[in-house]
Amino acid sequence: MRTRPFLLAIGGLLLLAQAGTVRAAAAPQPTAAAELLELADGIKTTDNVRFVRLLDQLDRDAPQLTAAQRWRLRYLQAWEAAWVGDYPKATKLAMAVADGAGDITLRARAGATSVNMLGLGHRYAEAFSRLDELLKLLPRVTDRPARFQVESEAAQLYSGMEQYELAADYAQRMKRELSTAAGQCKANVFALDAQYHLDRLAAPERDFRAGIRSCTDAGERLFANAVRGYLADYYLEHGRTAEAIALLEAHYQAVRQDGYRNLVSRFDAQLARAYDLRGDPDKARQHALAAVRSSISGEYTRPLIDAYRLLYRIDQKAGHYQSALAYHEKYMAADKAYLDDVSAKALAYQMVKQQVQAKKAELDALARKNQILRLQQALDRKAVEASRLYIAVLALGLLAIGLWLLRLKRSQLQFMRAAQCDSLTGIYNRKHFMSEAGQALRYAERSGHGACLVLIDLDHFKLTNDTYGHAMGDQVLRRAVLACQEYVRSTDVFGRLGGEEFGVLLPECGMDSGIERAEAIRRAVFALSHQAEPGIPVSASFGVAYTGESGHDLRQLLMDADHALYRAKRAGRNCVVAGKQGEGVVVA
Ligand code: GH3
Ligand code: MG
Ligand code: MG
Repeated sequence: MRTRPFLLAIGGLLLLAQAGTVRAAAAPQPTAAAELLELADGIKTTDNVRFVRLLDQLDRDAPQLTAAQRWRLRYLQAWEAAWVGDYPKATKLAMAVADGAGDITLRARAGATSVNMLGLGHRYAEAFSRLDELLKLLPRVTDRPARFQVESEAAQLYSGMEQYELAADYAQRMKRELSTAAGQCKANVFALDAQYHLDRLAAPERDFRAGIRSCTDAGERLFANAVRGYLADYYLEHGRTAEAIALLEAHYQAVRQDGYRNLVSRFDAQLARAYDLRGDPDKARQHALAAVRSSISGEYTRPLIDAYRLLYRIDQKAGHYQSALAYHEKYMAADKAYLDDVSAKALAYQMVKQQVQAKKAELDALARKNQILRLQQALDRKAVEASRLYIAVLALGLLAIGLWLLRLKRSQLQFMRAAQCDSLTGIYNRKHFMSEAGQALRYAERSGHGACLVLIDLDHFKLTNDTYGHAMGDQVLRRAVLACQEYVRSTDVFGRLGGEEFGVLLPECGMDSGIERAEAIRRAVFALSHQAEPGIPVSASFGVAYTGESGHDLRQLLMDADHALYRAKRAGRNCVVAGKQGEGVVVA
């Protein structure tokens, strides 16, 4: 399963890397203020101390500045606030410039900065509606770097929303917008991100390497390393652990030196995963801890979640149950916060889309009303013969609106499905599983029923991939899901929780029947070795937790089921282990 995109996380970076010089639109009076503004703009990154001093001086002289100069000063102040990480201040200033400035280039740039800041501040609904406004402004913006900045914000926000078609489209526009080496590098990064997630890279390794080269040639080391992050991801997914380690280690120091924390923690989390796969728990632990340290406090990202999960697993394996428990709590808390954020994003996107469409519908209705009014006037003149026409037009108009609403509903349903289901297997994704299972458990608790949670993890799946190839691995995953579905009822909640891990929540189910049903699923999966995929060994291990023992809290159930699953692996795999103590082991 693909890891989450992290492009939104490089938002701050992109903003700072792109906030180029904004030239005054009209020929200004060659006043001292105009020169100072020009000077300040040019030295933002190269001599930030002097830049700040100039801003202060200009701020003191503000009453003498022209209106246009004051807007430009505010934009530079927004830039400075973003640079030092004062996002609330940067957001406020940038939004004021985007709404108030007369110069369209400045408005576009400030608008793009606002979208970026709002995204970083998790204010997604505002970010989307601002982006919508900004995209309407775009046809009138002629300054290419400003257009590029707007397009990159669009690509970024859509990618964060997992709307990769749209993201790819804007990445393509970026590519055409700026032919500079740096522009091409950044456009490539966005294009690769989108195409990778759409599974459209014909030769991912070659494509990533080309992306890295374009950024290295442009002197954009940080962006080159961001692409290396993707390539490492690809290696890890395809069992090429040694290559992932070599790549990450070769650039680890540079990434640390650049100090961009989202990328540092991503590299650390990937190294942790790689060393864990290689069977080096000490190094895995060391990098997982580093990933936790370098992640920004209060932000819940994939690397952080992966790191906590790994720390939990490592300590569990080593028998340090106390600290394993503590890490599990942190893992679950981070996971929940992350999923909440994903939902908030999806909701905001839908909301804004609806608002935009509702506005359009309103305008349509208005136009239609006018039409009918005009017809009515004609009707007064030619009353009788036109009355039939009048009714027909009305009926047609209503039909059109009806069809339009139907289409809207269908696209909403499609969106919902895409947001809730896993693309490979079609069953619920982790986010939706968690929400549905949580709901089912709350209902069970209220009505006094018990429930079982079954965790399923395919055995030696890495070996399957390594031996038969990734495509066959995917095939096995799909077949395994079909086999499970034979035994999953419509009231059960079934989802893919990660790569080759699945969960089934069985409502109104006691421990004994939970074990029985898990056992039936186990046999069905094992039977694949002889049926659907002859020659390929397929089996899975099962961990079962029961509300009677663990309570109705999903987190506790997941943890207990995971412990049981872990014991099933240790007991030799292809078996079911239930309960906290693991009595009731059913060995195949
Ligand atoms: P164990 O019996 O201990 O569970 O061993 P394992 O090899 O199954 O476990 P491990 O967690 O080490 O490896 C899981 C593998 O699943 C590694 C990864 O390459 C593979 N994988 C994860 N997601 C996908 C996917 O979407 N498709 C394919 N083909 N493989 C995947
Ligand atoms: Mg696994
Ligand atoms: Mg496995």
